[in-house]
Amino acid sequence: MNDLEFKHKILDTKSASFCGAKWYNATIWLGSGMSTSCHHPPAHLVDIEEAKRNPKAIHNTPQKKQDRAQMQAGERPPGCEYCWKIEDIKRDNISDRVYKSKIYKIEDLDNAFTTPVHEDVNLKTLEISFDRTCQFACSYCNPAFSSTWVRDIKSNGPYANLQSDGRNHFTHDHNSAQLYKFGETNPYIEAFFSWWESDLHKTLDELRITGGEPLMSGYTWQLLDWFKANKGKSATRLAINSNLGKDVDVDRLLSSVDQPIDLYTSNESWATQAEYIRDGLEWDLWIDNMTKLIYADKIRSLHVMCTINALCLESLTEFLDLLVAWKTKHGKEAVSFTLNILRFPSFQSALVFPDEIRNKHKQKLQTWLDYHVSRPVGQFLHEHEINHTKRLIDYLDVVKTPHSDTFDMPRLHNDFKQFYTQYDLRRGKNLVETFPELTEWYNGL
Ligand code: SF4
Repeated sequence: MNDLEFKHKILDTKSASFCGAKWYNATIWLGSGMSTSCHHPPAHLVDIEEAKRNPKAIHNTPQKKQDRAQMQAGERPPGCEYCWKIEDIKRDNISDRVYKSKIYKIEDLDNAFTTPVHEDVNLKTLEISFDRTCQFACSYCNPAFSSTWVRDIKSNGPYANLQSDGRNHFTHDHNSAQLYKFGETNPYIEAFFSWWESDLHKTLDELRITGGEPLMSGYTWQLLDWFKANKGKSATRLAINSNLGKDVDVDRLLSSVDQPIDLYTSNESWATQAEYIRDGLEWDLWIDNMTKLIYADKIRSLHVMCTINALCLESLTEFLDLLVAWKTKHGKEAVSFTLNILRFPSFQSALVFPDEIRNKHKQKLQTWLDYHVSRPVGQFLHEHEINHTKRLIDYLDVVKTPHSDTFDMPRLHNDFKQFYTQYDLRRGKNLVETFPELTEWYNGL
């Protein structure tokens, strides 16, 4: 069944807003006690006393139960706006509601739809972050997810004169994101390990560890040790997100796992442009680590998550060519990619560009896609990769604002200029030297 058929036959026959991720998937930041169903809806705080009493409460929050009730009634939970925006383009675009439901068995989706909303459900896929320790400070990240971003704000003060940053991502060090120091008792981490020991290790299909940079967290290694010490006890597939930057010990990772793991990394542009956007990245090291992982027996699958922001568009297709070159050399399955459209911070969205720049990138992507789709037998793109590229092309064509609360364009332009001027000074970078195609537009802001 292709993606569109799945949407019509399996999801929409339950309700027009049903999504399995609301029941079976979670991203949970244990350092801050925040939880969400997938990475799109805003995260919310888990009641700490409830987590101490019932470890499953780190996923089955009152907010998620309310969203489930709405989905059972065919209403759209507002937090899932990312998917509604894609579906409202009305060109049969496939939203993440489909991708994030399709991974579950149809009977499990049926069960979710009929489960009374007050009941707790066991997770099948979980993305978990132990803390925000990270050696990178990417432009679209913020201190809530990176200790290096915290250092920037502590050393240089808040970013000034931003008008659209309603969530104040760049003005303080987000201490609430790291409630406990390493070694202190964190009730959320205790709840996770308690749930893990009691039944999560039996019911979970996939556990994905994220960060910060998870390979810099002691708890990640503690969990890897658990798998080694309890060989055969859990069938949970293990996946790790890693930026593959310096201080990431890929060899230690490969020798610390007995079972093959899935590895997810991030990148979306080429060389110096990638190093500009993902501050801390060393392009050559990233390539070396990717090459090592492509050949490693302990890696079951290797994925590149592309965060589609304004700046990456200049070299996105060159970057995708690199991924296709790896596929061509090592097989279609050697590496796969997703194109995840950035909405926050809004001023870094691709939609800040005027029509002529957007159209140029849209056309370049269309040419790239047409070429790859027309290649003879042995095409190297997965269906989801083709669909992600198509939806990005449509997004650049149709969608006018990054999200419904977005501020008007002059404010976004103000913030683009203000932010990158300060980013350049703080990080020793130079936007127009790195992205020469933007010189005229940027200098005119
Ligand atoms: S944002 Fe989309 S994929 Fe995520 S839970 Fe909501 S409907 Fe599902």
